[in-house]
Amino acid sequence: MDTHVAQAIKEELSWLSLILFVGLVIGFLSDKVGWGLGLSLVFYLFMHFKQAWKVLNWLSRKTTKQPPSTHGLWGMFVQQSLKIEKKTQKRKKRLSALLKRFHEVLAAMPDAIVILDEFGGIEWFNESARHILKMSQTHSIGQHIIRSIDEKEFSQYYNKKDYAHSLNISSPFDSDISLNIRIAPYGKKKQLLSARDITRMRQLEGVRSLFVANVSHELRTPLTVISGYLELLSDNESNSEVDATLQPIYQQMNQQAERMITLLDDLLMLSNLENQQIAEKLNETICIAAMIKDIHREAQMLKGEERYNISCDVDKTLAIKGNAKEIHSAFTNLVTNALRYTPSGGEIKISWKKTNQTACFSVQDNGIGIEQQHIERLTERFYRVDKGRSRSTGGTGLGLAIVKHVMFKHDARLEIESEFEKGSLFTCIFPKERIEYC
Ligand code: ADP
Repeated sequence: MDTHVAQAIKEELSWLSLILFVGLVIGFLSDKVGWGLGLSLVFYLFMHFKQAWKVLNWLSRKTTKQPPSTHGLWGMFVQQSLKIEKKTQKRKKRLSALLKRFHEVLAAMPDAIVILDEFGGIEWFNESARHILKMSQTHSIGQHIIRSIDEKEFSQYYNKKDYAHSLNISSPFDSDISLNIRIAPYGKKKQLLSARDITRMRQLEGVRSLFVANVSHELRTPLTVISGYLELLSDNESNSEVDATLQPIYQQMNQQAERMITLLDDLLMLSNLENQQIAEKLNETICIAAMIKDIHREAQMLKGEERYNISCDVDKTLAIKGNAKEIHSAFTNLVTNALRYTPSGGEIKISWKKTNQTACFSVQDNGIGIEQQHIERLTERFYRVDKGRSRSTGGTGLGLAIVKHVMFKHDARLEIESEFEKGSLFTCIFPKERIEYC
């Protein structure tokens, strides 16, 4: 037992003994011992109630802030309460210092930070939100965030409640400014919204992309000329005067020049996709069945000596809204990859159908497959599982990056499933909003 508690009990017992002793003495003197003891007990109880009254008053802080003079168990109770209060005060101080520091950090952040209540009303915002989102203490507090950031794309993003990804929009206050908006739920149904000015980053990205596009474009013309001459020189029949020993060299040079042209074309396509983030000509109704027929025919031509079993399972009426050229390029890339990474004799299944309200285009092969650790990175530019194999089969390492970009522009997504040495399944999933019928 705590020594203080023991001390308090001892004090309480001595106090009780003293009162009983006095009661006993009075009882003896008056020849009424029972009465004497009874009186002393009543007195003891009265003292208890008096102390309890003082303590309760002190605890409710109605009469005094000073702790009351008490003894025995009540004295102990007061002391313990004082100790607890001291500890609580210390913790409160620490917490409020922490909260102050947290607010200072949020306030000093260059990104706009806004705290939203469970209904989307603005509860608090930092200094940067004044500049970036034009918020003000008088108008913004309590206002719904959709009214504060009055932009259609933002309200769609907010209402969809899928905050796994951030949103890039033009600022509703200045169309030259690009904003990256992110929402993170926290605490009890609250939300933290952050908005970052990414104008400079966007400009740099634009410059880089434009540079790549220009270089690719400038290089393409001389390369086409070189490739044309090399093709002529490597053709045995039309060039009998060319030294026969040089012809394999010309053929190789021609192959490499063609590879470079393909690479430049892919780079150009990727830059164009990046430069027109905002959907351009995305409203054509594309009859995918007809497109698959073309791709199938092209694949038959591509496979050359090798034999594949290519089958198609196509919903002829199902169409989508989008850019036909881009979709054609994405689907061709997936089919070409299936041919490229499936040994001769393999099976390739192309399918186009409606699944769970979405339209799915998939290409399945029973080729070399991909080990799990590579799958996440396949859509990065120039990422190849086996560089040598990709190059030797004419790959540029940009195919899946193009597919991913095209899907992104069409609000669709690419899903990859694969098992090493068993085969792969690439699926493009289009949302119901894109579905049409031909
Ligand atoms: P590449 O031009 O090299 O094919 P891609 O971007 O199209 O570039 O593909 C990236 C990598 O993904 C490829 O290098 C290859 O390793 C892997 N890959 C793509 N499709 C398949 C497939 N159907 N089967 C196995 N591996 C594949």
